Amino acid sequence: MGLTTRILLAMLLGIVVGVLFNFLSTSQLLGSGVTGVIDTYLVDGLFDIAGRIFIASLKLMVVPLVLVSLICGACALSEGSRVGVLAVKTIMLYLLTTAAAITLALLMGTLFQPGEGMEGLVAEATFEAPPSPSLKDVLIDIFPTNPVEAMAAGNMLQIIVFALLMGYAVSRSGEPGRRIASFFNDLNDVIMRMVGVLMAFAPYGVFALLAKLFAQLGVEAIVQLGKYFLVVLATLLLHALGVYSLLLKLLSGLNPVELIKKMRPAMVFAFSTASSAATIPVTLATVEKRLGVDNKVAAFTVPLGATINMDGTAIMQGVATVFFAQMYGVDIGLSGYLMVILTATLASVGTAGVPGVGLIMLAMVLQQVGLPLEGIGIILGVDRLLDMVRTAVNITGDSVVSAIVAKSEGALSEETFNDRNYDSAAN
Ligand code: ASP
Repeated sequence: MGLTTRILLAMLLGIVVGVLFNFLSTSQLLGSGVTGVIDTYLVDGLFDIAGRIFIASLKLMVVPLVLVSLICGACALSEGSRVGVLAVKTIMLYLLTTAAAITLALLMGTLFQPGEGMEGLVAEATFEAPPSPSLKDVLIDIFPTNPVEAMAAGNMLQIIVFALLMGYAVSRSGEPGRRIASFFNDLNDVIMRMVGVLMAFAPYGVFALLAKLFAQLGVEAIVQLGKYFLVVLATLLLHALGVYSLLLKLLSGLNPVELIKKMRPAMVFAFSTASSAATIPVTLATVEKRLGVDNKVAAFTVPLGATINMDGTAIMQGVATVFFAQMYGVDIGLSGYLMVILTATLASVGTAGVPGVGLIMLAMVLQQVGLPLEGIGIILGVDRLLDMVRTAVNITGDSVVSAIVAKSEGALSEETFNDRNYDSAAN
């Protein structure tokens, strides 16, 4: 059985086992003794340990992989003097897709009115807003003062800036530069191999994470906020299957079905970890090996996308804003909506792709349009599951933009992109 099939099966099995345990412990069908043992030794014991080790092993690869692979990429790009063009194209596409995502979400929210009849929840709303960074700080913070500190903190934008500078300098340093470039290229191969080794454990990790999550997921909140939940979910699917397909077809002529199929394992990783940042190693490996995007493009677009491109998150913010406006009976008007689009797009640039960060961004957006932040407390209960789905959309967006940019730069192997032999390309 191929790795993709095993990962997908592990996902389904994890969900089934989790839901079953959840049912057993809420219904008390087996008596509290047995469910206590399941909770302590399996859910909070074995699954938790295996899941956390799995996430740690993914995160372990992020900084070395991004640094080394981007130095190689920037070096190859600088030789053709394309860094600037590539950066502009990528950032424009990321901003454009995020703005499209939030606009779609606002439309869907207005159409389906998820906040209608929810006024009664206002009294229950409590939420302590976390401090949000100012745009000025976000801009200054992109530039590192100490590369080691940036790496220790896993600050992706700072690592990207340092790696771009180093790659550029390597390509301009003559013979010493060539020696260093060949060292980094070799190191990149070794690190990619490490990612491949860890991928072999992915089915177990995915199973453990999902079994634990679903065993502990509260479903009452989902029932109460069913309409909000479904509108966010439908918009996420519409964006991932509709908007991305259209963009890919129109801008690059590539087959969207092939892209979605090939990105499946990475989507499962994103879904089970709820973190685009932790998924970077898998996204990068998949985009390069299965979509055929050259390292010089992918090494830049993927880590950048994991940090600044969060279309799924933008969708949640759009629907949530409309939801709160309806719930609180506030008319935020056209200028309010435009403000939401602008703030949500900019907010995604300054926040990292880790679980739950979308709520911090949502606080920034609500503040801009003058809606009470306490409302966030209401959607908190359903956010975990939505976070998982939107993270899968976030990384799909990164891969779509990577493919479009690579195609336009002549850095995409269509032979690999159209190769149906999925699993041979995974390792
Ligand atoms: N978990 C998301 C990500 O990592 C961010 C969010 O929506 O909270 O991309």
